[in-house]
Amino acid sequence: MIYLNGDFLRIEEARISVLDRGFIFGDGVYEVIPVYSRKPFRLAEHLRRLQHSLDGIRLQNPHSDSEWTYLLEQIVALNEGEDQYIYLHITRGVARRDHAFPQGVAPTVFIMSNPLLTPPPGLLHTGVVAISAADNRWLRCDIKAISLLPNVLLRQMAIDEGALETVLFRDGFMTEGAASNIFVVRNGILLAPPKNHLMLPGITYDVVLELAQASGIPHEVRAITEHEVRTAEELLLTSSTKEIMPITRLDNQPVGEGKPGKMFALFYQLYQSYKQTTMRG
Ligand code: PLP
Repeated sequence: MIYLNGDFLRIEEARISVLDRGFIFGDGVYEVIPVYSRKPFRLAEHLRRLQHSLDGIRLQNPHSDSEWTYLLEQIVALNEGEDQYIYLHITRGVARRDHAFPQGVAPTVFIMSNPLLTPPPGLLHTGVVAISAADNRWLRCDIKAISLLPNVLLRQMAIDEGALETVLFRDGFMTEGAASNIFVVRNGILLAPPKNHLMLPGITYDVVLELAQASGIPHEVRAITEHEVRTAEELLLTSSTKEIMPITRLDNQPVGEGKPGKMFALFYQLYQSYKQTTMRG
């Protein structure tokens, strides 16, 4: 079951107009929220980022946090699986095609939830393969915009080469992955690029840094050069649906020893324990 503009429907029954500005212009924002044991994970943080994205495109939030919480609880209850991921999507609504914002138009609100399949253990033992590319996206990557064509093309580039993700560089520095954030380990220190307009402020990224802080693991948030990525001891990829994964090959070269390293093992455990605590809490 999905939610569309006030109704809970079967997805086959859901209809939107071809004049929806999401369809015509990609004029909208979205969120992906993991759900563990039927509880949305880091919900307050996801709703805060949603507000940031809406502010970034100058679209009024159609719901209060408590209304969102209610709608998301309903969607989770109506769908199968203890672990799910919610996809929430808001567009500027339906209007005659014109670039200018329409007046007095209600936004389109769509929510669906699907079973969450976390990465298979085999992949966590071998690590994943990545390629790299120039970051050719716009300069507001901090907005979780539904217009994802560059990300789609960059991710497909990886798939075409038998890899899982594309690590992006802009002006000699690493930004993030096509649909993930990237951490770098050098000299036993966890390095994270600073949050700015060139990357999505990942919710998983924040969890990893909080865990590093709480466990006294040496870490630094600073700009990371392409050279530092290519000579890293470890590379870690994070996202809400992939959680935390080791990248063991980049552009056909091994990363460090070419197998998941100690920092990955540590953070994987920390992340799983943190999930358990939030499910109980
Ligand atoms: N960066 C991009 C471009 C993404 O699309 C995503 C998530 O899909 C992330 C980073 C990771 O963000 P989060 O940890 O909030 O899922």
